[in-house]
Amino acid sequence: MPSTAPHLGNSIASRDIASLLHPYTNLKAHESVGPMVITGGRGVTVVDDAGREYIEGVAGLWCTSLGFDEPRLVEAAVRQLRTLPFYHAFAHKSHEPGIELAEKLVALAPVPMSKAFFACSGSEANDTAVKLVWYYNNALGRPQKKKIIGRIKAYHGVTVASASLTGLPNNHRDFDLPIDRILHTDCPHWYRFHEEGEDEEAFASRLAASLEALIQREGPETVAAFIAEPVMGAGGVIVPPRTYFEKIQAVLRKHDVLLIADEVICGFGRTGAMFGSETFGLKPDIMTMAKALTSAYMPLSAVLVSEPIYRACVAESEKIGVFGHGYTYSGHPVSCAVALETLKIYEERDIVAHTRAVGARLQEGLARYRSHPLVGEVRGVGLIAGVELVADKATRQPFDPKLGVAARLAGFAQGHGAILRPIGDTLGFSPPLIITPEEVDELVARFGRALDDTTAWLEHEHRF
Ligand code: PMP
Repeated sequence: MPSTAPHLGNSIASRDIASLLHPYTNLKAHESVGPMVITGGRGVTVVDDAGREYIEGVAGLWCTSLGFDEPRLVEAAVRQLRTLPFYHAFAHKSHEPGIELAEKLVALAPVPMSKAFFACSGSEANDTAVKLVWYYNNALGRPQKKKIIGRIKAYHGVTVASASLTGLPNNHRDFDLPIDRILHTDCPHWYRFHEEGEDEEAFASRLAASLEALIQREGPETVAAFIAEPVMGAGGVIVPPRTYFEKIQAVLRKHDVLLIADEVICGFGRTGAMFGSETFGLKPDIMTMAKALTSAYMPLSAVLVSEPIYRACVAESEKIGVFGHGYTYSGHPVSCAVALETLKIYEERDIVAHTRAVGARLQEGLARYRSHPLVGEVRGVGLIAGVELVADKATRQPFDPKLGVAARLAGFAQGHGAILRPIGDTLGFSPPLIITPEEVDELVARFGRALDDTTAWLEHEHRF
């Protein structure tokens, strides 16, 4: 018999507990806590099955950039479903939405890119990037150059290779990961990891030197690629320190190591430019993107590859036959149609300019809490932000993880009608890009109320 929480009866909650294995959930806690069932959404808000409304402060999973009821995306999907609900791109087949979207993405890329490959998720896109890097180096006759370097606290997904690139213990432990040939270097979080007296630039220099030492130790002839999110999202909204990517890229160039930019969160306006690579000066050889590509209305991800990588793959496939990689749903026409409409809306509404304006308002709003006794750091860029809570402001001492302080705060925020993402001791913000200035103010105010509740809870329960 499946387990159910007795107090929930035969409700939708008990059916959930009885039948659904939840992704990314504390499974034991779920058996007693049960689900929060979302039934609909309007603009930047979602509604639960009790009719309560919440500002979605994280756009679901950093993804519903156009909010929860954009009719044009629905119409684009329905139009495509009526015309051609499915076709694939294997063995020379193709369809117009796939071709048009590939053209658009190559044209949008901030550096010259040659081709777009489609998949369904960020994880699949990053797995594809890993395989392309390996294929590329086999094509170039250097089969030993295969190691890929990720970073501690990076998030690149959960499939076997992508989870290996991810630098979070929870994604490795008990899953027997990371796989072979995946390495991790330092997390670029100045606030947490700088040494006494070290400014951001000196910290960036130290991290670049540490990366170079890792490459030297492993042997540059064995290191193929480095993968980075321009802003680390799920690892805690970590904005790179000044000069970081400039220095990292100099090391990569010196040792002929490819750069993969994971734009799954940062892509399509989030950081106040079309891509995070533009905001932080990355010149990637491969880019992966998903989420806001379709505003999450349909699953779709893309991998853009440079001309040299594409050419090497062509040469290898000429030798061995078919390029043996691709998913049934690589470039699903309905997803591509929704992506094309999404990109059209971004352009028409100048979503980048809008994000820059409302993003500045979010950053300023949250910055007001810098002086709050529980707040250690407020960080962010564009419309992505993190507020890190600390037990001691002066020493940056974190809370005992057992207290789950950020999760508590997120619970209080929910009570005030705002959904936020607790990540360790950090609260993540990444609202739909269409958020208005007034809604930004409301989100910030609701966060403030939750911060007050958290202070009271700590004083009351833990005598802080
Ligand atoms: N890369 C980044 C930067 C992400 O944030 C995520 C998902 N949060 C992924 C990859 C994985 O995407 P998916 O969950 O669609 O597999």
